Amino acid sequence: MKPLSALPCDGVRGLIFDVDDTVTRDGRLERVAFDAMWSLADAGLVLVAVTGRPLGWADVIARQWPVALAVGENGAGWSWVDARHHFHVDYFEAPTERERSDALKQRALERVRAEMPHVQPARDIVARRCDLALDVGEEVSLAPGEIAQIVALIEAEGCRAPVSSVHCHIVPGPWDKASGAARAIEEVLGDFDDERWIFVGDSGNDADAFARFRRSVGVANVRAHLPRLPAPPAYITPSDRGRGFAELAQHLLGALRGVGRSDA
Ligand SMILES: [Mg+2]
Repeated sequence: MKPLSALPCDGVRGLIFDVDDTVTRDGRLERVAFDAMWSLADAGLVLVAVTGRPLGWADVIARQWPVALAVGENGAGWSWVDARHHFHVDYFEAPTERERSDALKQRALERVRAEMPHVQPARDIVARRCDLALDVGEEVSLAPGEIAQIVALIEAEGCRAPVSSVHCHIVPGPWDKASGAARAIEEVLGDFDDERWIFVGDSGNDADAFARFRRSVGVANVRAHLPRLPAPPAYITPSDRGRGFAELAQHLLGALRGVGRSDA
């Protein structure tokens, strides 16, 4: 991983960012990160939130944060508000595919409940529409071996099981953060080119995006997740979580202003 100061910013259209432990700390949005979002948006950069959190939360992010769109449930769907202030939602899968996926994810959940009854669904499950999530690090702290066992059970039922800093997801369809963000941006903004976007995240459910984007950035706390990442981010910030996000914003804004790059 190269230092943030080596990140080239030429031709960048916008920033795709993870939420948990990338702009939040202990579950709260950090002031310094929210300020940085507004500075980026004011400078004309397009912001896209892409989170493992529920689509019900993506609705709120799309309506209230300075973002062009918000992708939820690791790419399963997205929400946006258009120039006429009309609110929209769309999904990675067609309605008939979503019915099949609903049955698949329920079966995987029942398998985990039967074999590991102490594992509980995440508290945000009521706002989910496409995936399910199990709490592995939010209100509990499961051992790596237990998390690996959950992943194996979910995969045995034909679903994927990306793990973030807080949850293990039951993903019944073919979406991931990178493909969901790409499709969402193409639909909402009219086109998508990997080369014109920076991605920033922190953990296992960002792995596909770290692998896809040439300009992928990890906030410093990504170091704790490196043993489980198939590909590390290309660049890393000096500081963790929202502070690292703010350093990235400062670097990007400095480059845009043509006053040199941050010496971070
Ligand atoms: Mg995260």
